[in-house]
Parts: sequence; structure tokens; C-alpha cells
Amino acid sequence: MADLLDTIDATGHLYPGRIAHVSGAETLTWGNLVRRSDALAGGLSRMTTRGAPVVLRGHKEPEMLIGFLGCAKAGISYVPIDDSVPEARAKRIIAAAGAELVLTPTSIRRLEEEQHAPPARSAHASTPLYVMFTSGSTGEPKGVVITRGCLDAFLGWMLQEQQFAPHEEVFLNQAIFSFDLSVMDTWCSLATGGTVVSLRSDDLADFKKMFAVLQGSALTTWVSTPAFAQLCLAEPHFTSAMLPRIRRFLFCGDVLAPGVARQLIERFPSAQVWNTYGPTEATVATSSVRVDEQIIESYPQVPVGVAMLGTQINIEDERGQPVPPGERGEIVIVGPNVSTGYLGREDLTQRVFSRRNGERAYRTGDIGSVQDGLLFFHGRMDSQVKIAGYRIELGDIESHLASLPNVRAAVVVAALRDGRPDSLHAFVCLVERPAVSELEIGRVLRLELAALTPAYMLPRKFHVLEAFPLTENGKTDRQELTRRASGE
Ligand code: AMP
Repeated sequence: MADLLDTIDATGHLYPGRIAHVSGAETLTWGNLVRRSDALAGGLSRMTTRGAPVVLRGHKEPEMLIGFLGCAKAGISYVPIDDSVPEARAKRIIAAAGAELVLTPTSIRRLEEEQHAPPARSAHASTPLYVMFTSGSTGEPKGVVITRGCLDAFLGWMLQEQQFAPHEEVFLNQAIFSFDLSVMDTWCSLATGGTVVSLRSDDLADFKKMFAVLQGSALTTWVSTPAFAQLCLAEPHFTSAMLPRIRRFLFCGDVLAPGVARQLIERFPSAQVWNTYGPTEATVATSSVRVDEQIIESYPQVPVGVAMLGTQINIEDERGQPVPPGERGEIVIVGPNVSTGYLGREDLTQRVFSRRNGERAYRTGDIGSVQDGLLFFHGRMDSQVKIAGYRIELGDIESHLASLPNVRAAVVVAALRDGRPDSLHAFVCLVERPAVSELEIGRVLRLELAALTPAYMLPRKFHVLEAFPLTENGKTDRQELTRRASGE
């Protein structure tokens, strides 16, 4: 693969008037993206000590893309922090990153104007590109270091598998830039000379406005969490008439329910639906599968696919030994897309990262199994609960529920009493809501589920929702559902 930054510069020189980014009323051309990121790189290399990351604090402004590229050109890693991240948490991230410089769209513009010449480039595969902060189990954010080599491995695979049309694609950017799903749309677009269309928080707050943005976007490549597409499916006009150029839907970050995939295939017959899987610690996604009718018919849940080129996915037991074929175990990722570790946290890094045959390896804490060569995701190892002595995987009940014909998507949580798991509650979105009470709907679902799972796995209560509440990353907000189930 040609050097990524050279490819990006070449697009700017060949197609200076092409649009690189659209965000609300703001547009950024490729010519300006390349010119302005050069100027920023020049300013940055005079201001920072090499090694210290630069924080980019903003929302979906064009300056954020200029910031990503400017930092990459200066050989400095960036830490994106969305404006929606509360100030106290942002401060903890800035401190944990050891950042000397926090740039906002305004200060980026100011630095660009100083017009320093861009520095000579000296990045290697091991040079950190970005540090993405995710929430640790203690609530303390931890910074995942992603190198140029990690991104090259991820992009090499995505570009080969998706065959994006050079200088033609229009990517949806739904995720905020501090969620690594945004790397999929933004860097695939940068690498292929595409256009990124960002949905801003004010678009998302007003459905009419959001659908107007989608309608006017000429999107070819949809990138979002499944929960966001599910939200859109509640609108009957969300069809190929709204997105006539759409070629593919790319999902990552959360469970893709078969009902959601099926409805997308029906409403967008000329587009492909892809499910991809992976943690931030392995650069956005590590496995993928095209989800068609046959896949949906063949399995009760949507698989997460096969490992990317050059990377291995192992299913292991507690002792790190491979489990027998078809059995469940922990998903372990081994390959060049695996992060070099958590910034400044050797202790945490050692717990989950290791080396295998000279490659980096990461223990995901996700439960998986392989069937017919396809990886299946069965929830987090820590989503196991014990109720009345029974060991229950919430993900297990969810996939059975989601396989029922009238269920579009399902989430099962354990309601807490005195802080302990007490009873199971199911939240469901239906394909079509029958004109009967929630109680009656629950009774029918319980009956259908009883044919698939043991009695101790049957939820005590069913809640019917139009859509699930979402976290700031656009994933289903399980904590909020647990609070509702617990009557808080
Ligand atoms: P994040 O680091 O925020 O991207 O979260 C990564 C986690 O999201 C993974 O470890 C999985 O638990 C979950 N995840 C990612 N992709 C999928 C998928 N396609 N299906 C189900 N869960 C997923």
C-alpha cells in the first residue's frame, strides 16, 4: 500500500475542489484539507515536545479532520475528545494522556494562520497515531494507543474487502470522534478520497432535520452502530428512496439483530449489509461478514464473521488453551491491528495484552464461538449473572428473543434489588406492535421463548419500546435499562 499520507496529499492535489467533509452548513474541500493540515503540522511541530499527544477538543467541525491529519503529518498522536464529554472527565483524560496542548477548532484555525512550513515526515509503523480513551471498569478512562501500523493493517483490509470506489464514496459519520467507530468512516474516506458527512448533535436531536440531512447527503456508505439504524427504521420513509445511492451499510460496536438486518435488506435492496466486530484495542474492527438472507435464515443470531486478513482470532479457555471446535470461550485477537497497550498504564496493559509468535495479542473479555468458519459473539464475560443459583448469560437470552419472528431487537437485563441481580427483564422492539396490552405481548413472547430456553432463563417482565435508549457512543444503553428495570 502506498503511504497513507502521500495518498491523501495526492487526492488534495488532483481533486482540490472535491468535498472532503460536510458538517451542518460547513464544507471543507480536499484542497483546503491538505493545505490547512500542512499548515497545522508546521505550527504543531514548533510547539510540542515530540512524544506528548495533542488533545483535539471539539465536535464535528472540519477542523477536527484538519487536526487528525495535521497531527499525523507532524508525527504527533492525537486524542479526540467530543464536546459532549463532561468537563471533569475531559480533564482526567487530558491528565492521563500527559497532553501539553489542547486544541479547539478556534485554536486550530489560529495555529494554521501562522503559516509555518510543514515538517519533514518521519513516521514509522510504530509511531502512535491516536490515543482513544475508553471507560475502564473502575470508571477511570484508559487510553488505547493506536499506531500508524495498526491503522494501515485495518485500512488495508477494509479497502480490499469493500472495494470503495476511489474519489466517489460518501461516508456517513454518525459516531462522535471520541468513539473509534468514527475511525471507520473518517479514515476510510481519507484513504479513498471520499466525502465524510457528519451528523451533528443538533441534527440528532431533531429527527426531521436528521432525515433531511440524510436525504440530501448522497450517501454511498453507511457507518453506524446497529442501534442507530434501528432508530432510523422506525421512520417508514427510511428506504432507498431516501438514500438512492447507498451501496453498503457497515455496522460495528454492538449486536446486529437479525430483524434489523432483514428490514434493511428489504428496504434497501441494492445495498449490502455488513456486520463487523472488534474492540477499540484492536483498531475498530477485526472481523466481518456480509449479512444476506441466507445468513439470516441459517443461524439464530447474526455472526460477526471471519477475521481480517493477516490477523488471527482464537477462542480460548481460562488457561489460554484453545477450546474444542464449536465451543464457547474468550475471543483473543492476535495481529498487527492490536494496540501497543494503554498509555502510561503498564499494569493494565500486562493484564490483557501479550505477545504470541512475535505478534501483539489482546484478550477481549468477549465470549465467542466458531461455527462453519464464522465467529459468533455471545456477550461479555462480565454480563453473566446468577439468579436463584442459576448461571445465566444475558446475551444468550437476547439472541433467542431476537430470533423470534416479530422481534426486531431485544435486550435483557437483571433488575437489581439491594444491588444484587434479582430478576430478568426483557426490553423488546417489535417489527409490528399488535393492538393488545404489553402484558399480553409479554405472555406470547414468553411462550415462544419457552420453546427455546430453560424456564430459569425466561424473563419475569417484558417491556415493549419503540427504540432503545442510546449511550453517547450510540450503543444500546444497558445501564439505563437496568435502572428502569430496577424501578430507579
Ligand atoms: P468499543 O471498544 O467501544 O468499540 O467496544 C467493543 C466491544 O463492543 C466489543 O468488545 C464487543 O463487546 C462489542 N462489539 C463490537 N462489535 C460488535 C458486534 N458486531 N456485535 C456484538 N458486539 C460487538
